[in-house]
Amino acid sequence: MKNIYGMKISDLETYFIEKGEGKFKATQVFEWLYKKRVSSFDDMKNVGKKNIECLKNDFSIEPLEIITCKKGKDVAKYLFRLYDDNKIEAVLMNHDYGNSLCISTQVGCNMGCHFCESGRLKKVRNLESSEMVRQILAVEEDMNLRISHIVLMGIGEPFDNYDNVISFVDIINTPKGIDLGSRHITISTSGIVPKIEKFADYEKQVNLAISLHAPNNKIRSSIMEINKAYPIEKLIDAVKKYIEKTNRRVTFEYIMLKDVNDSIECAIELSNLLRGINCYVNLIPYNETSHIEYRKTDREQIMKFYDTLKKHGINVTVRKEFGSKVKAACGQLRSHYEEETV
Ligand code: SAH
Ligand code: SF4
Repeated sequence: MKNIYGMKISDLETYFIEKGEGKFKATQVFEWLYKKRVSSFDDMKNVGKKNIECLKNDFSIEPLEIITCKKGKDVAKYLFRLYDDNKIEAVLMNHDYGNSLCISTQVGCNMGCHFCESGRLKKVRNLESSEMVRQILAVEEDMNLRISHIVLMGIGEPFDNYDNVISFVDIINTPKGIDLGSRHITISTSGIVPKIEKFADYEKQVNLAISLHAPNNKIRSSIMEINKAYPIEKLIDAVKKYIEKTNRRVTFEYIMLKDVNDSIECAIELSNLLRGINCYVNLIPYNETSHIEYRKTDREQIMKFYDTLKKHGINVTVRKEFGSKVKAACGQLRSHYEEETV
């Protein structure tokens, strides 16, 4: 049965119109779900008995089950169980600008990046949009707070689950619903070029982050399988077209891997690659994981890399390190849990 949290307000309007009801019923249901946060259809007082019966017959309203929550300073990491016993993660981070939640979009991931824990589990299935929405609701309820920013950087490749991700954005962006501003939502992709091209025509002002991680094809192909399908020149070309169409600044993520992509030569090559593009680079300290041999670049070298980019006119930031103690790197909590329970 479809979960009610996967319904866009326009879907619910159609649903009620087909039942001979006014489409404002959809607004009422949205307000019960997302403003008043009721957990049962019976609590939707103004919707009408007959409609409540219909909703009960057609939709489930179960929240996500929280298996564990590990809390650290400014960070909380959640492991959820889905209806089919698959497990996914979300990470809450307190920034000075608000609370940001990093959510999962798939069970596992097929992109096969060599440094990534999530990719060690091949994709089992896409998440439904309701399963993305409910990550937000579960964390807000558990922590008794409001999330201001969403990043799609948990387990999975969002553009390998394009339609559900777009529905999810629509649902959480609806003013009668959670009302998360599109500028507060960031989608991160490993670089599926046709989907970047498609996303350029998407009407909402959602932020785009590209996991670049290398300044040339030789290094990128050695750490990211997707580079063999969509090499750097195709990726950069798609990003340039995206910026032309949307007029939006793009983020390039760059994980700092010791002795792999962190030399000063790499920084210079990266500056040349990105010169003139409306973007900024986010340097990510690598979160080491026990199964994978890559090591993190030390702080001093990260800062040298940072300075080199700056000197060459590239906007650059270093990501604050969250939660290595609570296994916050994407996929780590799920994988740790599986090991403890097998
Ligand atoms: N699949 C998408 C989004 C999820 S991964 C993507 O690859 O962009 C989100 C980000 O986390 C990516 O930039 C990814 O490269 C990074 N990441 C993966 N494993 C990491 C680790 N161990 N330490 C730090 N960042 C990691
Ligand atoms: Fe998938 Fe992103 Fe991990 Fe690559 S980094 S394996 S695309 S989740």
